[in-house]
Amino acid sequence: MLQQAQKLLKQYYGYSSFRNGQNDIISSVLAGNDVLGIMPTGGGKSICYQIPALLLPGTTLVISPLISLMKDQIDTLDSMGIPATFINSSLTYPEVENRIQKAGKGLYKLLYIAPERLEMERFMVLLQKLTISMVAIDEAHCISQWGHDFRPSYRSISTLLKMLPERPIVAAFTATATPEVVDDIVNSLSLHNTNVFRNGFDRPNLTYTVTRVADKKDYMKQWIAGRVKEAGIIYAATRKDVDSIYEYLYKSGVSVGKYHAGLSDKERNEAQEKFLFDDVRVMVASNAFGMGIDKSNVRYVLHYNMPRNMEAYYQEAGRAGRDGEPSECVLLFSPQDIMIQKFLIEQSQLPPDRKANESKKLQSMIDYCHTPRCLRSYILQYFGEKDTPQSCGNCSQCNDTRERVNMTKDAQMIFSCILRMRERYGVTLVASVLKGSKLKKLIDLGFEQLPTYGLLAHHAEKTIISRINALIAEGYLMITEGQYPVVKLQTIAGAVLKGTEEVWLKPEDNVAPASVKRS
Ligand code: ADP
Ligand code: ZN
Repeated sequence: MLQQAQKLLKQYYGYSSFRNGQNDIISSVLAGNDVLGIMPTGGGKSICYQIPALLLPGTTLVISPLISLMKDQIDTLDSMGIPATFINSSLTYPEVENRIQKAGKGLYKLLYIAPERLEMERFMVLLQKLTISMVAIDEAHCISQWGHDFRPSYRSISTLLKMLPERPIVAAFTATATPEVVDDIVNSLSLHNTNVFRNGFDRPNLTYTVTRVADKKDYMKQWIAGRVKEAGIIYAATRKDVDSIYEYLYKSGVSVGKYHAGLSDKERNEAQEKFLFDDVRVMVASNAFGMGIDKSNVRYVLHYNMPRNMEAYYQEAGRAGRDGEPSECVLLFSPQDIMIQKFLIEQSQLPPDRKANESKKLQSMIDYCHTPRCLRSYILQYFGEKDTPQSCGNCSQCNDTRERVNMTKDAQMIFSCILRMRERYGVTLVASVLKGSKLKKLIDLGFEQLPTYGLLAHHAEKTIISRINALIAEGYLMITEGQYPVVKLQTIAGAVLKGTEEVWLKPEDNVAPASVKRS
């Protein structure tokens, strides 16, 4: 079967081989198993269900929430000679009837629908009359409340699977890989013998950098000045930041546009078009920008703030270098970013368990900003890939030639302070005690009396915070899950306190400065 699949790949798509992972997924589907493919955008998931669709009898139903992309996808399939169509709310009723009838005659190998269709009983009845061998589900995380884009209509997919006269093979795809979401997808769809595949998260042409700079705006200005001909995106956390960065760059004479949810549809469309057609080089945007846009020659993505989690960062940074050319992803970290994100979680309307989950994901993002290890392998491990490289030679950590220094003494003071505070407080309060701050809460709790009070007073408070975060990222400390995460010691920290282990970290802003100009 796989040989046949390979032939079709050449015949229809013109590619000579499958990408890593594509053949595993296709073999598994063709053997009759349900699959869950965890792949990033652009990882090549379409082929994973389109080729089996050509080999299986009847029609493959593709459920996708991206209505705006359906027509393009069908046009592409059309041009390759693969019979396919879509049904969504953009069609008139007679046209829907017409397409359903044709589908009933087996004229399409693929039928794309929006999930909302499944909430219409009449439509479900019509589907029962088709021969559906496979149901492919795009953006499958939408079925999960833990995902970032829960859509109740996705719940109807399991009703559909039960209603169909023969249970089809189910192939679900998502770029969100957290265990909660994976479990939710498998359970909500009652998947059978599911094979879970995680693949394609590596983007070898992207250089990852985390850096701390004194003046972020000035840094960006210089960065852009070193790349006047190149297109890039700058992401900022709030509309206010987008506006102010835009103003700053505009006044500096940069060819710049802006995009956030506070602008009118018209303004946003115009900004997007200009960027797509290279009328403006730099787009300053909130996270509202980028869904579904596909500009291949974005040479860099700068993050003015740390995003809320690794999924968001990966997706936004991943908009660089779609054409495979070398491109850069730079995160301009500042400790303030942690406060912003914590505040946003606190203020959200989420129930406590979801808030706890968001905090946990935020912690992984904070760790990314503090790890002294290879950033690429950190990303790949986060997304669950196996066989990740020790070092990639193409990230700010791998390129950081500075030696680690012995920080055992500071680490011991931090650990002992946490113990004296009975491991019941968060990073910020621990840092305040070590700094010897006069914070009222700290004094009310009697921490002024601790022998560790003010032990690190010679450091700036944000230096202490970042050192604690580095110790978390290195596994000496842990942050508990829950709504009020507290910092605790890991076993190895005990050994450091006893003096049997040493702690070696990179010097304070433990990240090498990124080269601002291209050489
Ligand atoms: P996704 O749906 O995962 O976002 P696509 O299926 O659209 O990604 O694939 C992304 C790009 O990679 C497309 O241009 C596609 O043609 C290309 N591609 C997919 N599989 C292969 C392959 N085996 N060899 C070469 N290019 C591929
Ligand atoms: Zn690396």
